[in-house]
Order: sequence, then C-alpha cells, then structure tokens
Amino acid sequence: MERIHYDVVIVGAGPIGGRAGTLLALEGLKVLMLEEHNEIGRPFQCAGLVTPSAMNVVKAYETVLEEVDGALIHGPSGTLVPVGTDGTLRTYVVCRKRFDQAVVQQAMEAGAHLWVNSTPSDANANEDGVDVTVQRNGEQHLVTCKLLIGADGAHSWTRRHFKMGRPKELMIGFQTEVVGYEGRSRWLEMYSGSDIAPGFFAWVIPSGFDTHRIGVWSTAEHLNGRSIESCYNDLLNHPLWQDRFTNINEVARYVGPVPSGMVRRTIGNRVMLLGDAAGMAKPTTGGGIGPGFHQIQSILKPLVNAIREDTLTQPTLKKITKKPWDAMKKEQDRARALRNLLVSECSDEQLDTHFLNFSHPSTLELINEIGDIEKPVPLGMALLKNVPAFRKLALKASVRLLLS
Ligand SMILES: Cc1cc2nc3c(=O)[nH]c(=O)nc-3n(C[C@H](O)[C@H](O)[C@H](O)COP(=O)(O)OP(=O)(O)OC[C@H]3O[C@@H](n4cnc5c(N)ncnc54)[C@H](O)[C@@H]3O)c2cc1C
Repeated sequence: MERIHYDVVIVGAGPIGGRAGTLLALEGLKVLMLEEHNEIGRPFQCAGLVTPSAMNVVKAYETVLEEVDGALIHGPSGTLVPVGTDGTLRTYVVCRKRFDQAVVQQAMEAGAHLWVNSTPSDANANEDGVDVTVQRNGEQHLVTCKLLIGADGAHSWTRRHFKMGRPKELMIGFQTEVVGYEGRSRWLEMYSGSDIAPGFFAWVIPSGFDTHRIGVWSTAEHLNGRSIESCYNDLLNHPLWQDRFTNINEVARYVGPVPSGMVRRTIGNRVMLLGDAAGMAKPTTGGGIGPGFHQIQSILKPLVNAIREDTLTQPTLKKITKKPWDAMKKEQDRARALRNLLVSECSDEQLDTHFLNFSHPSTLELINEIGDIEKPVPLGMALLKNVPAFRKLALKASVRLLLS
C-alpha cells in the first residue's frame, strides 16, 4: 500500500484542530486533518460562547448570532446579582457549526488538507516518524508523519491509544435550544442551587432569531445518582422561576462532556494533545475554545522549529511545552480551588449568603471592574481580600492555592 507523507497529522477537525492546522500550514508545513464525520461542526455540544479575545484570534465574526453585555446571576433563594454593563461587550454567542467550519476553512486556505469520514485505526511512533493507519470512506490508507496531534475531543482516541491519562474532572452538560423564552436583550442568565445544578450553575443564553439555549452542568459526584436531565426539568419547574419557562418550545437538545484539568501526559514521543483531548476547558465556565487556541499559540515557534529539524522526541516536546503549559495548568488548578471554595462545595445556605454579599453595590463595582471570564483567579483573590464578609475564607483560600 502506498504511503502518504505529511509533516503533521491532526486527528480531529474541531475548532482546536482547525486552529492548529491553520498555524502550522501558514508556516509552510504539510498538514493533514482527519475528521471522523462527513461534515465539519456536527454534531456539536456547546453553548456557543466565544470571548472577544478568542474571537479576535480567528476573526470569524460572520458566525456571531448575538452579542452579550452581561450576566444576570440568580442565587438559590432568588437574590439577583447583575454582572456587566449595557453597551460593553463581554462575550459573543456563535453558531458553533459555522464557527467550526470557518476555523477549518482557514486551515484549508492556509494549505492544510482535510479528510472527512476518516479515523485512525492504529498509530505507532518510532525513531523515524509516526505510522498512522487511517480508515477513510471504508478504505485503509497508510500515512506517515513527523508529529501526530490529537485534537479529537473529550473522548480522544489519540489519548487512549497512547495511554496519556485522563482529565482531572469531567463535567456533564445538558442543553436545549428553545423558542418562546423572554429574556433581557444582550444579557444571559445564570441560575444556581443544589436542586438544579449541584456544585455548578444553569444558564439561559440568547442565540439569535428568538431562540435561547437553556443548559445545566455538573459532575457525577455532585449529581450523586441523579440524571443531568432531571436537573434541567427541575430548573423549568422551579417555584421561583417556572413562570419564565411556561411558553418555551424545545427545538433541539444536546448532551456532552466538558473535560477540565490537564491530563498527566499531554505529550509523548512524536505525539501531542490539544484542546478537549488534553483537558483544557475552564473549571469555572466550561469554556474550552479560548484555552485551546492559547495552548497551540503558546508553543508555536519552538514547535515549528522542532518539526522542521525533526527533533520531536518526548524530552524535546517536554522542553517546548513545559513553561507555557505548566503555567496554564497552574491557572486552571487555582481557578478550580477558588471555584470549589466559593461555589462547588457550598450548601445552598452558604451560597445565599455569598449572593447577598455579591449584591452589595461596592462588591458589584469590584466584580465589574476586575471580573474577567478569561481570568477568574484575580477576581476571586480581590473578593477575598477586599470584601470584609469574605475575609474569613481568605486563609482557607491561601492554603488551597498553595496546595493547588
Ligand atoms: C453543553 C456544553 C456547553 C459548552 N459551552 C461552551 C461555550 O459556551 N464556550 C466554549 O468555549 N466551550 C464550551 N464548551 C466546551 C467546548 O465545546 C469544547 O471545549 C470545544 O469544542 C473543544 O474543541 P476541540 O476542538 O478540542 O474538540 P471538539 O470540538 O470536540 O472537536 C473534536 C473533533 O474531533 C473529531 N473526532 C473525534 N474523534 C475522532 C477520531 N477518532 N478521528 C477523527 N476525528 C475525530 C470530532 O468529530 C470533532 O470534530 C461546552 C461543552 C458542552 C458539553
């Protein structure tokens, strides 16, 4: 069988595989993206929030459905904390199918090749390269490459095949797309409480054309045997909020995992994991697009040199990734520690007390000044330091941050 050679094979043509394909192909490298489906961007499991900084990377503005200025956050007993300012954009809501297609198209325009209906069935890394057996449209092909990148999502084949570990946390998300919800224009809503989103929160996000995305997320440990769908139903029937949901009609539903917490080995000999495959999603919001873009950008130059020089051993890849990716891991661990302290490990009574403190005008001012969906740790630290009611948690937080 004829062998086809590429510098880099990327398993998975989602947003992160597409972005990696673009950056590497723009450097003149020969890149092949493998996508198991026959269409890019389907099926998707995503609320579609893309922060301005992530959007600025790919500039796929034509995929934006809505712009969002803030979040109306509801405490378990109904205390409302509005975060944001009318007219100041906080995040975009995109059509994920079109967003993924735009990113993958950029890779193809940069020169990367795309095989759809294609999955690897075997891969062996050796001194000379990686031999990848690919099933494409039911036919077998042999592809060799210098570097194999797994950008193949939460259940990554690459990660399992090369035994690279598991993400620290796996959240489960459930979401519907509905018509008939009447929300405040340009604002999303978040709902909390152990009966609707134990340890986490539920969301309602405007998604254009009079539709909204209603979702909940949590972990198996927090759900303790309950199904995530039952949490969603409890949100719709919650005594405080059920009136908002009486006129909705569901047009679609999705369920999917959110892997957060970098896996033990993100690299191996001639192998590397990116995006959800590596467990990059944020523990505070579940957002995985921005961190995945940053992950590849942060190592681009030395990685391209190593590909050109064909020095892609595990120690070299370790050297390239260590500083930037260790910093990302540290930030992720710190965000998780603060999230656990302020939200995930709190009873509804404790959360209600936090919400009363959050809703104080001076605290809201601080949140609006420092709050950044991209960087939750500085806000968490500022709250602990400056809000008297949170000071008693500060010592606990310091210990956790030291240990994280
Ligand atoms: C309910 C929910 C809501 C979310 N909301 C947001 C949000 O609002 N904002 C945000 O930033 N993130 C959100 N996320 C997370 C976000 O969807 C992911 O972090 C993001 O899609 C990761 O991109 P990726 O390219 O790494 O993986 P994926 O998007 O999963 O792409 C992987 C690609 O690889 C393909 N593939 C998989 N296995 C193989 C194989 N063996 N061979 C070939 N191809 C393969 C898949 O078909 C897919 O195209 C949400 C997740 C969930 C579950």
